[in-house]
Amino acid sequence: MTNPNAVVSDTQSAIGMAITVAVNSSSLYSPSVPNSPYNITLFSRNKFPKSTIETAASSAGGHAGLAKNIAWVDAMRASSPTRNSSEDTEDKKAWIIKHPSALGVFEEIMSAAKMKQVVIFLDYDGTLSPIVPNPDQAYMAPEMREAVKNVAKYFPTAIVSGRCRAKVYNFVRLSELYYAGSHGMDIKGPSSGKHQKGNQNVLCQPAKEFLPMMAEVYKHLLEKTKDIPGANVENNKFCLSVHFRCVEEQNWSDLADRVKFVLKDYPKLRLTQGRKVLEIRPTIKWDKGKALEFLLESLGYANSKDVLPIYIGDDRTDEDAFKVLRKQGQGFGILVSKIPKETDATYSLQEPSEVMHFLQRLVTWKRGVLRSH
Ligand SMILES: [Mg+2]
Repeated sequence: MTNPNAVVSDTQSAIGMAITVAVNSSSLYSPSVPNSPYNITLFSRNKFPKSTIETAASSAGGHAGLAKNIAWVDAMRASSPTRNSSEDTEDKKAWIIKHPSALGVFEEIMSAAKMKQVVIFLDYDGTLSPIVPNPDQAYMAPEMREAVKNVAKYFPTAIVSGRCRAKVYNFVRLSELYYAGSHGMDIKGPSSGKHQKGNQNVLCQPAKEFLPMMAEVYKHLLEKTKDIPGANVENNKFCLSVHFRCVEEQNWSDLADRVKFVLKDYPKLRLTQGRKVLEIRPTIKWDKGKALEFLLESLGYANSKDVLPIYIGDDRTDEDAFKVLRKQGQGFGILVSKIPKETDATYSLQEPSEVMHFLQRLVTWKRGVLRSH
């Protein structure tokens, strides 16, 4: 069983040392998190891109602070591309050769699935639903729901989202699926199901101790960002999301500053970026990749050669899952993107409608296999 308490220590890094000092100063902590099992929750500097390891501990003012802030706004821009995504540039052609369309090479993908149990992992926003201005309205098309429902008839299927589990369940509304909310920090399986081989009661909340702290920070963030037009703070239980998709670009720097100001009192939390969103999460070594490993183990496929996991996602946070698959040399990551992006995914799909076609083809393929036996 994967140990959800596992941490990586990197006391050599400046950030690591800054956090260590803070960790030892109990006055900086919410009294509601005494004796947390995550007292040395430091990440290796190499584990994350530079922009994702920025924490409150390193957001000091002065020239260094200004430089870091410019870097943050640049990173926010990079994670929120606005250029014409349909441009068929040379870059894009080269990228597609490197990460072929999962629809274009469907037969090749499925040839690796012979005699194996395919397990499907799906991100939600930008993968099953379009990215919309109001995240509360990121509804899933009925045809997409039907496609996911059909996939789940043949393959264990999990939704792995940054949203809190209850929220993503309300969007998807299929009780037969596994749900990993808050970037995998809140995992629950179907109450009954034909796919479980191992643990029947799948439930994992590796950051449970952080709940009171997250609720407190949510209130501070709401207060601190309320006069920035378009800023939207979403409480995803184990993860707080500050959406800036409706914020004027000239205000991004101010927004990032205010978020970092709130976080300076919470060194056990870290700030990362997704698509048009800043995310605040507990600094524990747990991400969508760990959630994928946990679910495979729960399904009875730990270290199994008989499984082919397929993970489809559009976001930087999905890269953790792509990395796990690449490292294990097992299964495939599929990045949903219209523009070339650095990724550990093997294949690509352009948008949610292509994800739907891919899922439909999976079902057709499986029905064909079953007919031929
Ligand atoms: Mg997404």
